[in-house]
Amino acid sequence: MATVYTRYPLANIAIYNGVTLAHYGLGAAGIVLGYARWPAMGWTAGLVYLGFALAQMYVLMPLTVCPSCVYRRMDVARCVSAMNLVSARIAPLADPRDFPRRAEGVLCHNNLYMASLIAPLVILLPALLVAFSWAVLAMFLGVVALFALRLFVVFPRVACGVCVAKGRCPNAQAMGLS
Ligand code: SF4
Repeated sequence: MATVYTRYPLANIAIYNGVTLAHYGLGAAGIVLGYARWPAMGWTAGLVYLGFALAQMYVLMPLTVCPSCVYRRMDVARCVSAMNLVSARIAPLADPRDFPRRAEGVLCHNNLYMASLIAPLVILLPALLVAFSWAVLAMFLGVVALFALRLFVVFPRVACGVCVAKGRCPNAQAMGLS
């Protein structure tokens, strides 16, 4: 049987959260720089994006997804984001049968999560077309690289591929990792 973690090593947690925060931070900085000709718009868009990305990951997920995840039910467990530990402090346990709901509906958490990853690319494209700069292109490509790293290395090797919940998780099923 393949290795799965009920208590992820700190290295996995650091890589997962590091790649996540780098993606959000680089995306927000790219938006601010990409719209430097229109600073009010750039700063507003960058800060709104950063606030949305952080809130869906570090507030909404422990409030709405983690309570029905298997990691909330195991005493010594620590999931790859470590949000099961945060969730235990801020939200009551929920029915584990609700876990697949994370992928149901237009505004489900899975869609918000994906939106937080894709949004900086969508917002930066017009800036590159209208006010091209090599620095913004480098940031755009950096976000693309972080996205690819997440999809092809972090998810299969660091997070979902070694997750106890992967047999029931719609995300792992969608990636063929369950
Ligand atoms: S399979 Fe991936 S998305 Fe699903 S609970 Fe595990 S780490 Fe989270």
